Amino acid sequence: MKIIPYGRQEITSDDIEAVVEILRSDHLTQGPIVPEFENQIANYCGAKFGVAVNSATSALHLACLALGLGPGDVIWTTPITFVASANCAKYCGADVDFVDIDPLTYNMSVEKLSAKLEIAKKSGKLPKIVIPVHFSGQSCNMRDIKELGNKYGFKIIEDSSHAIGGKYNGNPIGGCQYSDITVFSFHPVKIITTGEGGMATTNSADLNQKMRLLRSHGITRDLAEMCQPLDDAWYYEQIDLGFNYRLTDLQAALGISQLKRLDDYVDQRVRLAKRYEELLSGVDVILPTQCLGVKSAWHLFVIRIEKDLNNQNRRRQLFKFLRKNEIGVNVHYIPVHTQPYYCELGKKMGYTKSSFPEALKYYDEAISLPIFPLLSDKDQEKVVDLIKDFFKGSA
Ligand SMILES: *Cc1c(COP(=O)(O)O)cnc(C)c1O
Repeated sequence: MKIIPYGRQEITSDDIEAVVEILRSDHLTQGPIVPEFENQIANYCGAKFGVAVNSATSALHLACLALGLGPGDVIWTTPITFVASANCAKYCGADVDFVDIDPLTYNMSVEKLSAKLEIAKKSGKLPKIVIPVHFSGQSCNMRDIKELGNKYGFKIIEDSSHAIGGKYNGNPIGGCQYSDITVFSFHPVKIITTGEGGMATTNSADLNQKMRLLRSHGITRDLAEMCQPLDDAWYYEQIDLGFNYRLTDLQAALGISQLKRLDDYVDQRVRLAKRYEELLSGVDVILPTQCLGVKSAWHLFVIRIEKDLNNQNRRRQLFKFLRKNEIGVNVHYIPVHTQPYYCELGKKMGYTKSSFPEALKYYDEAISLPIFPLLSDKDQEKVVDLIKDFFKGSA
Protein backbone atom coordinates (compact mmCIF):
# COMPACT_ATOMS: atom_id res chain seq x y z
CA MET A 1 0.00 0.00 0.00
CA LYS A 2 1.21 3.48 -0.83
CA ILE A 3 0.88 6.41 1.55
CA ILE A 4 -1.48 9.13 0.37
CA PRO A 5 0.40 12.35 1.20
CA TYR A 6 -1.31 15.63 2.20
CA GLY A 7 0.14 17.30 -0.88
CA ARG A 8 2.39 16.54 -3.81
CA GLN A 9 3.51 17.92 -7.15
CA GLU A 10 2.65 16.73 -10.64
CA ILE A 11 5.52 16.56 -13.15
CA THR A 12 4.49 15.94 -16.76
CA SER A 13 6.61 14.96 -19.75
CA ASP A 14 6.24 18.57 -20.98
CA ASP A 15 7.82 19.75 -17.72
CA ILE A 16 10.69 17.33 -18.17
CA GLU A 17 11.27 18.36 -21.77
CA ALA A 18 11.26 22.04 -20.83
CA VAL A 19 14.02 21.43 -18.26
CA VAL A 20 16.07 19.18 -20.56
CA GLU A 21 15.96 21.84 -23.24
CA ILE A 22 17.66 24.26 -20.83
CA LEU A 23 20.26 21.65 -19.93
CA ARG A 24 21.23 21.54 -23.61
CA SER A 25 21.36 25.35 -23.90
CA ASP A 26 24.12 27.85 -23.10
CA HIS A 27 22.71 29.20 -19.86
CA LEU A 28 21.82 27.11 -16.85
CA THR A 29 21.35 30.18 -14.69
CA GLN A 30 21.01 33.93 -15.36
CA GLY A 31 19.86 33.25 -18.90
CA PRO A 32 16.75 34.46 -20.69
CA ILE A 33 14.26 32.12 -18.99
CA VAL A 34 14.22 33.70 -15.53
CA PRO A 35 13.05 37.11 -16.84
CA GLU A 36 10.48 35.30 -19.00
CA PHE A 37 9.13 33.50 -15.92
CA GLU A 38 9.07 36.78 -13.98
CA ASN A 39 7.06 38.46 -16.72
CA GLN A 40 4.60 35.59 -16.96
CA ILE A 41 3.94 35.53 -13.21
CA ALA A 42 3.65 39.33 -13.03
CA ASN A 43 1.20 39.30 -15.96
CA TYR A 44 -0.82 36.48 -14.46
CA CYS A 45 -1.16 38.37 -11.18
CA GLY A 46 -1.62 41.81 -12.68
CA ALA A 47 1.50 43.23 -11.00
CA LYS A 48 4.05 45.47 -12.71
CA PHE A 49 7.12 43.51 -11.59
CA GLY A 50 8.13 40.01 -10.54
CA VAL A 51 11.48 39.17 -8.92
CA ALA A 52 12.33 35.46 -9.03
CA VAL A 53 14.41 34.03 -6.19
CA ASN A 54 15.49 30.62 -4.92
CA SER A 55 12.73 30.33 -2.27
CA ALA A 56 9.83 32.18 -0.69
CA THR A 57 12.01 32.48 2.40
CA SER A 58 14.54 34.48 0.34
CA ALA A 59 11.72 36.53 -1.17
CA LEU A 60 10.43 37.42 2.31
CA HIS A 61 13.95 38.41 3.39
CA LEU A 62 14.48 40.63 0.35
CA ALA A 63 11.01 42.13 0.73
CA CYS A 64 11.81 43.14 4.33
CA LEU A 65 15.19 44.60 3.33
CA ALA A 66 13.71 46.50 0.39
CA LEU A 67 11.14 48.06 2.75
CA GLY A 68 14.00 49.23 4.96
CA LEU A 69 13.49 46.85 7.88
CA GLY A 70 16.38 46.86 10.34
CA PRO A 71 17.44 46.71 14.00
CA GLY A 72 14.96 48.44 16.30
CA ASP A 73 12.03 47.72 13.98
CA VAL A 74 9.22 45.21 14.55
CA ILE A 75 7.07 43.20 12.17
CA TRP A 76 3.77 41.55 13.06
CA THR A 77 2.56 38.31 11.55
CA THR A 78 0.23 35.44 12.42
CA PRO A 79 1.20 32.55 14.72
CA ILE A 80 -0.47 30.04 12.36
CA THR A 81 2.10 30.03 9.58
CA PHE A 82 5.40 28.47 8.62
CA VAL A 83 8.32 29.91 10.61
CA ALA A 84 9.72 31.66 7.50
CA SER A 85 7.00 34.35 7.74
CA ALA A 86 8.60 35.47 11.02
CA ASN A 87 12.26 34.57 10.45
CA CYS A 88 12.60 37.09 7.61
CA ALA A 89 12.44 39.93 10.14
CA LYS A 90 15.05 38.34 12.42
CA TYR A 91 17.43 38.06 9.43
CA CYS A 92 17.24 41.87 9.21
CA GLY A 93 17.95 42.32 12.91
CA ALA A 94 14.34 43.33 13.55
CA ASP A 95 11.89 41.79 16.03
CA VAL A 96 8.65 39.89 15.66
CA ASP A 97 5.28 40.05 17.39
CA PHE A 98 2.08 38.22 16.53
CA VAL A 99 -1.62 38.89 16.02
CA ASP A 100 -4.04 36.10 16.92
CA ILE A 101 -6.09 34.35 14.24
CA ASP A 102 -9.72 34.63 13.28
CA PRO A 103 -11.46 31.51 14.64
CA LEU A 104 -13.30 30.86 11.35
CA THR A 105 -10.77 31.55 8.57
CA TYR A 106 -7.56 30.90 10.59
CA ASN A 107 -6.14 34.04 8.96
CA MET A 108 -4.85 36.99 10.98
CA SER A 109 -7.83 38.57 12.77
CA VAL A 110 -8.41 42.12 11.57
CA GLU A 111 -10.27 42.97 14.80
CA LYS A 112 -7.33 41.83 16.90
CA LEU A 113 -4.90 43.62 14.60
CA SER A 114 -6.88 46.83 14.94
CA ALA A 115 -7.06 46.59 18.75
CA LYS A 116 -3.36 45.75 19.05
CA LEU A 117 -2.41 48.69 16.82
CA GLU A 118 -4.35 51.10 19.03
CA ILE A 119 -2.43 49.89 22.08
CA ALA A 120 0.91 49.91 20.23
CA LYS A 121 0.33 53.46 19.08
CA LYS A 122 -0.02 54.64 22.67
CA SER A 123 3.21 52.94 23.70
CA GLY A 124 5.06 54.05 20.55
CA LYS A 125 5.66 50.46 19.42
CA LEU A 126 3.90 50.32 16.07
CA PRO A 127 5.11 47.69 13.59
CA LYS A 128 7.04 48.80 10.52
CA ILE A 129 5.63 45.92 8.44
CA VAL A 130 2.64 43.61 8.84
CA ILE A 131 2.89 40.23 7.09
CA PRO A 132 -0.54 38.67 6.63
CA VAL A 133 -0.48 35.06 5.43
CA HIS A 134 -3.21 33.78 3.11
CA PHE A 135 -3.64 30.61 5.09
CA SER A 136 -4.49 27.48 3.10
CA GLY A 137 -4.87 29.67 0.01
CA GLN A 138 -7.71 31.91 1.20
CA SER A 139 -6.91 35.62 1.04
CA CYS A 140 -6.91 37.67 4.21
CA ASN A 141 -9.22 40.66 4.47
CA MET A 142 -6.71 42.82 2.60
CA ARG A 143 -8.89 45.86 2.15
CA ASP A 144 -9.26 46.33 5.90
CA ILE A 145 -5.61 45.54 6.57
CA LYS A 146 -4.58 48.14 3.98
CA GLU A 147 -6.90 50.69 5.61
CA LEU A 148 -5.19 50.06 8.94
CA GLY A 149 -1.84 50.36 7.15
CA ASN A 150 -2.79 53.81 5.94
CA LYS A 151 -4.01 54.82 9.38
CA TYR A 152 -1.00 53.56 11.35
CA GLY A 153 1.71 53.88 8.71
CA PHE A 154 2.91 50.30 8.33
CA LYS A 155 3.94 48.52 5.14
CA ILE A 156 2.38 45.24 4.01
CA ILE A 157 3.96 42.05 2.64
CA GLU A 158 1.44 39.37 1.66
CA ASP A 159 2.84 35.92 2.33
CA SER A 160 0.97 34.18 -0.49
CA SER A 161 2.99 30.97 -0.37
CA HIS A 162 -0.33 29.04 -0.33
CA ALA A 163 -2.33 31.25 -2.60
CA ILE A 164 -1.10 31.57 -6.18
CA GLY A 165 -4.06 31.10 -8.51
CA GLY A 166 -6.51 32.37 -5.88
CA LYS A 167 -8.51 35.57 -6.06
CA TYR A 168 -9.57 38.41 -3.81
CA ASN A 169 -12.55 40.54 -4.85
CA GLY A 170 -12.23 39.19 -8.39
CA ASN A 171 -8.52 40.04 -8.74
CA PRO A 172 -5.71 37.50 -8.79
CA ILE A 173 -3.62 37.26 -5.62
CA GLY A 174 -0.28 38.94 -6.22
CA GLY A 175 -1.50 42.13 -7.93
CA CYS A 176 -0.55 44.09 -4.79
CA GLN A 177 -3.67 46.28 -4.81
CA TYR A 178 -3.54 46.31 -1.01
CA SER A 179 0.12 45.64 -0.29
CA ASP A 180 3.65 46.70 -1.12
CA ILE A 181 4.95 43.25 -2.02
CA THR A 182 3.44 39.77 -2.45
CA VAL A 183 5.53 36.63 -2.00
CA PHE A 184 4.98 33.20 -3.59
CA SER A 185 6.59 29.80 -2.93
CA PHE A 186 7.27 27.16 -5.58
CA HIS A 187 8.22 24.40 -3.15
CA PRO A 188 6.87 21.04 -4.41
CA VAL A 189 3.98 20.85 -1.92
CA LYS A 190 2.72 24.29 -3.01
CA ILE A 191 0.38 24.99 -5.95
CA ILE A 192 3.00 25.05 -8.72
CA THR A 193 6.65 24.14 -8.32
CA THR A 194 10.16 24.90 -9.52
CA GLY A 195 11.75 22.40 -7.10
CA GLU A 196 12.83 25.16 -4.74
CA GLY A 197 11.90 28.68 -5.73
CA GLY A 198 9.96 31.83 -4.99
CA MET A 199 8.83 35.13 -6.42
CA ALA A 200 8.11 38.62 -5.11
CA THR A 201 5.64 40.78 -7.04
CA THR A 202 5.28 44.53 -6.64
CA ASN A 203 4.01 47.61 -8.45
CA SER A 204 6.85 49.76 -7.14
CA ALA A 205 9.81 50.34 -9.48
CA ASP A 206 11.94 51.24 -6.47
CA LEU A 207 11.17 48.04 -4.52
CA ASN A 208 11.64 45.99 -7.68
CA GLN A 209 15.08 47.50 -8.25
CA LYS A 210 16.14 47.02 -4.61
CA MET A 211 15.08 43.37 -4.50
CA ARG A 212 16.83 42.68 -7.83
CA LEU A 213 20.05 44.21 -6.58
CA LEU A 214 20.01 42.29 -3.27
CA ARG A 215 19.16 39.02 -5.01
CA SER A 216 22.56 39.00 -6.68
CA HIS A 217 25.24 40.18 -4.20
CA GLY A 218 24.29 43.86 -4.37
CA ILE A 219 26.10 44.00 -7.70
CA THR A 220 24.95 46.27 -10.51
CA ARG A 221 25.91 46.63 -14.17
CA ASP A 222 23.50 49.54 -14.59
CA LEU A 223 25.50 52.74 -15.22
CA ALA A 224 22.76 54.84 -13.64
CA GLU A 225 23.26 53.06 -10.31
CA MET A 226 27.07 53.18 -10.23
CA CYS A 227 29.23 55.46 -8.11
CA GLN A 228 31.79 55.64 -10.90
CA PRO A 229 30.00 54.80 -14.15
CA LEU A 230 32.41 53.04 -16.50
CA ASP A 231 31.09 51.29 -19.55
CA ASP A 232 33.94 48.76 -19.86
CA ALA A 233 32.45 45.36 -20.58
CA TRP A 234 34.02 43.73 -17.51
CA TYR A 235 33.04 46.45 -15.10
CA TYR A 236 30.45 46.12 -12.34
CA GLU A 237 30.03 47.66 -8.93
CA GLN A 238 28.87 46.24 -5.64
CA ILE A 239 26.81 49.07 -4.17
CA ASP A 240 25.06 47.19 -1.33
CA LEU A 241 25.46 43.96 0.65
CA GLY A 242 23.35 41.38 -1.17
CA PHE A 243 23.08 37.60 -1.41
CA ASN A 244 23.06 34.82 -3.96
CA TYR A 245 19.30 34.23 -3.97
CA ARG A 246 19.03 33.63 -7.71
CA LEU A 247 16.66 31.18 -9.35
CA THR A 248 18.19 29.13 -12.18
CA ASP A 249 16.97 28.94 -15.76
CA LEU A 250 16.37 25.22 -15.16
CA GLN A 251 13.92 26.05 -12.41
CA ALA A 252 12.33 28.92 -14.33
CA ALA A 253 11.69 26.60 -17.30
CA LEU A 254 9.91 24.18 -14.98
CA GLY A 255 7.94 27.10 -13.53
CA ILE A 256 6.83 28.35 -16.95
CA SER A 257 5.74 24.85 -17.89
CA GLN A 258 3.82 24.42 -14.62
CA LEU A 259 2.21 27.86 -14.86
CA LYS A 260 0.32 26.68 -17.95
CA ARG A 261 -1.58 24.29 -15.69
CA LEU A 262 -2.06 26.65 -12.73
CA ASP A 263 -5.75 27.35 -13.40
CA ASP A 264 -6.45 23.65 -13.94
CA TYR A 265 -4.67 22.83 -10.71
CA VAL A 266 -6.71 25.33 -8.74
CA ASP A 267 -9.93 24.06 -10.37
CA GLN A 268 -9.00 20.53 -9.26
CA ARG A 269 -8.31 21.71 -5.73
CA VAL A 270 -11.60 23.63 -5.60
CA ARG A 271 -13.41 20.51 -6.81
CA LEU A 272 -11.73 18.31 -4.19
CA ALA A 273 -12.51 20.83 -1.44
CA LYS A 274 -16.20 20.90 -2.42
CA ARG A 275 -16.20 17.13 -2.47
CA TYR A 276 -14.72 16.93 1.04
CA GLU A 277 -17.42 19.32 2.22
CA GLU A 278 -20.14 17.10 0.77
CA LEU A 279 -18.64 13.81 1.90
CA LEU A 280 -17.92 15.07 5.42
CA SER A 281 -21.23 16.82 6.03
CA GLY A 282 -22.87 15.32 9.08
CA VAL A 283 -19.52 14.07 10.44
CA ASP A 284 -18.43 15.54 13.78
CA VAL A 285 -15.69 17.75 12.32
CA ILE A 286 -15.46 21.49 11.69
CA LEU A 287 -15.03 22.30 8.00
CA PRO A 288 -13.12 25.34 6.74
CA THR A 289 -15.10 28.57 6.34
CA GLN A 290 -14.85 30.52 3.10
CA CYS A 291 -15.43 34.27 2.96
CA LEU A 292 -17.52 36.05 0.34
CA GLY A 293 -15.53 37.50 -2.55
CA VAL A 294 -12.60 35.16 -1.99
CA LYS A 295 -11.46 32.28 -4.18
CA SER A 296 -9.08 30.03 -2.29
CA ALA A 297 -6.29 28.18 -4.09
CA TRP A 298 -6.86 25.37 -1.54
CA HIS A 299 -3.24 24.58 -0.75
CA LEU A 300 -4.53 22.94 2.44
CA PHE A 301 -7.82 21.40 3.48
CA VAL A 302 -7.92 21.64 7.27
CA ILE A 303 -10.60 20.03 9.40
CA ARG A 304 -10.96 20.59 13.14
CA ILE A 305 -11.96 18.02 15.71
CA GLU A 306 -13.07 19.37 19.04
CA LYS A 307 -12.33 17.65 22.30
CA ASP A 308 -15.03 15.22 23.36
CA LEU A 309 -17.18 15.58 26.47
CA ASN A 310 -14.49 13.88 28.56
CA ASN A 311 -12.00 16.47 27.30
CA GLN A 312 -10.09 13.83 25.34
CA ASN A 313 -8.02 15.18 22.49
CA ARG A 314 -9.64 13.29 19.63
CA ARG A 315 -7.50 15.14 17.08
CA ARG A 316 -4.40 13.33 18.28
CA GLN A 317 -6.26 10.00 18.17
CA LEU A 318 -7.66 10.62 14.69
CA PHE A 319 -4.25 11.76 13.44
CA LYS A 320 -2.63 8.54 14.69
CA PHE A 321 -5.45 6.45 13.26
CA LEU A 322 -5.13 8.03 9.80
CA ARG A 323 -1.32 7.77 9.77
CA LYS A 324 -1.60 4.10 10.81
CA ASN A 325 -3.85 3.61 7.79
CA GLU A 326 -1.31 5.18 5.44
CA ILE A 327 -2.91 8.58 5.09
CA GLY A 328 -0.12 11.17 5.23
CA VAL A 329 -2.12 13.75 7.16
CA ASN A 330 -0.26 16.61 8.78
CA VAL A 331 -0.77 19.55 11.14
CA HIS A 332 -0.29 23.09 9.83
CA TYR A 333 1.11 24.73 11.85
CA ILE A 334 2.69 24.50 15.26
CA PRO A 335 2.03 28.09 16.39
CA VAL A 336 5.25 29.97 15.64
CA HIS A 337 5.22 31.86 18.95
CA THR A 338 5.43 28.52 20.81
CA GLN A 339 8.65 27.48 19.06
CA PRO A 340 11.53 27.59 21.58
CA TYR A 341 13.29 30.32 19.58
CA TYR A 342 10.20 32.54 19.60
CA CYS A 343 9.33 31.75 23.25
CA GLU A 344 12.72 33.23 24.06
CA LEU A 345 11.97 36.32 21.96
CA GLY A 346 8.61 36.61 23.74
CA LYS A 347 10.39 37.46 26.98
CA LYS A 348 11.65 40.61 25.29
CA MET A 349 8.53 41.33 23.23
CA GLY A 350 6.05 40.69 26.03
CA TYR A 351 4.07 37.77 24.62
CA THR A 352 3.72 34.29 26.10
CA LYS A 353 2.27 31.02 24.82
CA SER A 354 -1.19 32.00 26.08
CA SER A 355 -1.16 35.42 24.41
CA PHE A 356 -2.81 33.99 21.26
CA PRO A 357 -5.55 31.65 22.51
CA GLU A 358 -7.35 31.13 19.19
CA ALA A 359 -4.09 29.93 17.63
CA LEU A 360 -3.55 27.47 20.49
CA LYS A 361 -7.11 26.15 20.29
CA TYR A 362 -6.80 25.77 16.53
CA TYR A 363 -3.51 23.91 16.93
CA ASP A 364 -5.15 21.44 19.35
CA GLU A 365 -7.88 20.60 16.84
CA ALA A 366 -6.48 20.84 13.29
CA ILE A 367 -5.61 18.15 10.77
CA SER A 368 -4.65 18.80 7.13
CA LEU A 369 -6.24 16.20 4.86
CA PRO A 370 -4.73 15.19 1.49
CA ILE A 371 -5.51 17.68 -1.27
CA PHE A 372 -3.59 17.92 -4.54
CA PRO A 373 -4.56 17.76 -8.22
CA LEU A 374 -3.66 14.10 -8.69
CA LEU A 375 -5.64 12.91 -5.65
CA SER A 376 -8.15 10.43 -7.08
CA ASP A 377 -11.79 10.39 -6.07
CA LYS A 378 -11.25 6.87 -4.80
CA ASP A 379 -8.36 7.89 -2.54
CA GLN A 380 -10.33 10.86 -1.29
CA GLU A 381 -13.25 8.54 -0.44
CA LYS A 382 -10.84 6.29 1.39
CA VAL A 383 -9.74 9.21 3.57
CA VAL A 384 -13.35 10.14 4.31
CA ASP A 385 -14.37 6.54 5.04
CA LEU A 386 -11.53 6.20 7.52
CA ILE A 387 -12.62 9.38 9.28
CA LYS A 388 -16.16 8.01 9.47
CA ASP A 389 -14.84 4.70 10.81
CA PHE A 390 -12.93 6.56 13.47
CA PHE A 391 -16.00 8.38 14.70
CA LYS A 392 -18.07 5.20 14.67
CA GLY A 393 -15.41 3.45 16.72
CA SER A 394 -14.92 6.22 19.22
CA ALA A 395 -18.63 7.02 19.58
C1 LIG B 1 6.21 27.20 2.30
C2 LIG B 1 6.05 28.50 3.02
C3 LIG B 1 7.07 29.45 3.12
C4 LIG B 1 8.47 29.17 2.67
O1 LIG B 1 8.55 28.80 1.35
P1 LIG B 1 9.95 28.27 0.75
O2 LIG B 1 9.77 28.47 -0.72
O3 LIG B 1 10.04 26.83 1.15
O4 LIG B 1 11.03 29.10 1.32
C5 LIG B 1 6.80 30.66 3.70
N1 LIG B 1 5.58 30.93 4.21
C6 LIG B 1 4.58 30.06 4.15
C7 LIG B 1 3.24 30.43 4.70
C8 LIG B 1 4.78 28.80 3.58
O5 LIG B 1 3.79 27.90 3.56
